[in-house]
Amino acid sequence: MLPSGVSYGTERQHGGPATAKRMQKITALLFGAFALLVPCAFAQRTPLKPGWNLFSPQQDVQIGQSAARDAEKKLPMCNDPKVDAYLAQVGKRLAEKAPTGGVQYPFEFHCVDDKAINAFALPGGFVFVNRGTIEAADTEAQLAGVLAHEISHVALRHGTSQATKAGATQLPIAILGGILGDSSLGALVTQLGAFTAGSVLLKYSRTAETQADVLGTQILYDAGYDPRALAQFFERLQARGGPSGSLAQFFSDHPNPDHRVERVDEEVAKLGGPPQNYKRDSVEFQAMRREVLALPPPPKVRAGAAAGGKPAPPSGTFAAYQGNEFSLKYPNNWKVYGQGNAISLSPEGGVVEDRSGQAALAYGMIVNMSDAHEELDSDKALEKFTERLIDQLEHENPAMRVVRKPGRVRLNGQPALSTYLSNASPMGGEETDWLITVLRPDGLLYFVCVAPQAEYDNYDKTFVAILDSLRLAK
Ligand SMILES: [Zn+2]
Repeated sequence: MLPSGVSYGTERQHGGPATAKRMQKITALLFGAFALLVPCAFAQRTPLKPGWNLFSPQQDVQIGQSAARDAEKKLPMCNDPKVDAYLAQVGKRLAEKAPTGGVQYPFEFHCVDDKAINAFALPGGFVFVNRGTIEAADTEAQLAGVLAHEISHVALRHGTSQATKAGATQLPIAILGGILGDSSLGALVTQLGAFTAGSVLLKYSRTAETQADVLGTQILYDAGYDPRALAQFFERLQARGGPSGSLAQFFSDHPNPDHRVERVDEEVAKLGGPPQNYKRDSVEFQAMRREVLALPPPPKVRAGAAAGGKPAPPSGTFAAYQGNEFSLKYPNNWKVYGQGNAISLSPEGGVVEDRSGQAALAYGMIVNMSDAHEELDSDKALEKFTERLIDQLEHENPAMRVVRKPGRVRLNGQPALSTYLSNASPMGGEETDWLITVLRPDGLLYFVCVAPQAEYDNYDKTFVAILDSLRLAK
């Protein structure tokens, strides 16, 4: 653009009638040249704004606050003042840069005592970060990237926008027309204010994820951080990801849009690259990370083996679970661990400590999604991805072997594969693992039904009932 500025100068020197039109053109050229001379941080960034929402920002705060207080009771918290103070300080610096349309959200940042790499934000500004995320981040900028992504979900009001869309199919037409009775909305606010696994408030679409990535990158930039840090963190997660659940959990709650890293890189380019003297790391971050690494191990879910008892038989009464890609029913004396598409269903005493002191599922069902990016529509995709998953499972469980090869079944009307495996049970002896796999648009959804071999018959009927209740998202 600089040469244009020069040619404008030449044009003027040659004289001629300066029409209004030409003046406009000249102004435009001048402005163009000027805009390129200063860092064009605000000129080209992707504009983002909240989507359709029947809730007010004040209701976001009300719902989020209630759910946050509930989450603090239901989740194990780190309760380390140094860690909390650090998160509050970095979080505040980022939140100040979030475009909220003038709304003052009471941002809070909490550390959850969970080794799984995950983070979530409730509407109104209540952000929860697992200690696993802090441990997995290399630099302050990477952790700031995750916080900025969560802050973006708050600023873009994704939780209540999602609840609006989910409620839209059930709410009376008067509500959709905007004639919202206080009582019905009040009831919805109360209902949403309870923190539950798989809450609609945390079910983000891939579009919402891309928006949070892009805005998060802008916030990082504006707060003076290396804006590439969010993408770097995702790349780290993807490189480490496996089907085992803990690493995949972030992507279960924040579903991976296509070309995630590329889209973030594109935004960094639009911003003109990293800001001058950008911040990458800090002594404070490394000290805080050491503090987290030195925290006592997170509480075990339940040490059933130590208590010596077998779990109570599965109840015949079922409770409902709603994930991102599916819903199902499970015995109401079982518990759901995890969120989104990565969950375990297990009776009291069904999760025990194995010989290495790790929590292991001895009775129950594991549900997870393994990413499959290529050739999902080919004839052999289901077989291929199932084989790959079995290889991975065998790799992670040296005692595991296939006892009955994959056979065709149907799951909620979809073609699926049924495979039987055996493995060493954390209860001692052998266990039976019944694996069911089904293709979804974004990968392979799989279910592992687990029980000690000697007791498997007592659970078979329950596993079948759970799978029969399964409804896959359209
Ligand atoms: Zn997200």
